[in-house]
Amino acid sequence: MPVFDHPEFDHHQHVAFGSDETSGLRAIIAIHDTRRGPALGGLRIFPYASDADALTDVLRLSRGMTYKSALADLPLGGGKAVIIADPSRDKTPELLRAMGRFVDSLGGRYITAEDSGSSESDMRIIHETTPHVSGLGRRPGDSGDPSPFTARGVFCALNSAVRHGLGRQDLDGLRVAIQGVGHVGAHLARQLHEAGARLVLSDVNRQPLVNLAEELGAETLDPGAIFDADVDVFAPCALGAVLDAGVIDRLKAKVVCGAANNQLATADMADRLQARGILYAPDYVANAGGVIEIAWRQRRQASRDAVMRHIEGIGDTLDEIFARSRSTGTNPAAIADQLARERLDV
Ligand code: NAD
Repeated sequence: MPVFDHPEFDHHQHVAFGSDETSGLRAIIAIHDTRRGPALGGLRIFPYASDADALTDVLRLSRGMTYKSALADLPLGGGKAVIIADPSRDKTPELLRAMGRFVDSLGGRYITAEDSGSSESDMRIIHETTPHVSGLGRRPGDSGDPSPFTARGVFCALNSAVRHGLGRQDLDGLRVAIQGVGHVGAHLARQLHEAGARLVLSDVNRQPLVNLAEELGAETLDPGAIFDADVDVFAPCALGAVLDAGVIDRLKAKVVCGAANNQLATADMADRLQARGILYAPDYVANAGGVIEIAWRQRRQASRDAVMRHIEGIGDTLDEIFARSRSTGTNPAAIADQLARERLDV
């Protein structure tokens, strides 16, 4: 299994493979970059079909975290961890404690956090064998759910995208289609509704969708039809890789801005969006609200106001990305990567 010649290898500083015979742990931690600070990134637990698939995921996701933290102006680098296991079957306290020892062996250069397949209670078990865990120590009463912060960031991003892409200063009467009204999508829908937007919602989970649509007076569409909605903005808040050539060609929206990670099926889709005159808000810029809140929580004197001000800065970052994109003709996703790399050369 090549590492240095792997297509997703991007001068990662450290790639570590960990195993523990007793608990059955098989894990990989990738530290992409620590120039801005320790590498923060979630722990994904997933039954990968092969070690090679796990390596691909961890290399790609750790690089993404470096860029996300740099553009969110956080004193953090980028890293990620994966355990090759089925979280519903294989996740035992022994496995998690072994993972904690693996994280600890990196001496704090990698800080772990929740991701798909791992929960806050798993983080508490991992914390028994390493202090390098984030997402703990919330104040009593905090839900521990980052999605309201992520949604706030997407809302700020959407305001910026609408100004640049549609020349509109407010959201009153704006038509927005949201794909996926789970944790982030539902919060986003409520904020957009409050700002006067008209919503078209879709979700594969029917009942919560219907309830939310009733609450907000929104229209609903079947999952397969949401791309054809006659709207100004398309907000992907469900799955990754949703923007492929077929979908992009169907969109009527002139702005794409949502919470989902890795929305572009392939990097060249950013050019295809631009060619169709659709302004794309790069996903890792728009959805950084959650990681901003996690980073602030590690500081002793984080006030909610300070966190919210930082999250609102996502709109300023996008203003800069869109302005540069317009003046250079380069698509916003490529500009975001450029800007992130500039912020790493500190
Ligand atoms: P979630 O699981 O709560 O919500 C996703 C929703 O999408 C669910 O309601 C699901 O039923 C729906 N869905 C799945 N497939 C669909 C389809 N084909 N069409 C329509 N709906 C579909 O997840 P979430 O926490 O709201 O996160 C949404 C996205 O944002 C994910 O891609 C996640 O990686 C990303 N993200 C989330 C956060 C966060 O703070 N939760 C932070 C950064 C990025």
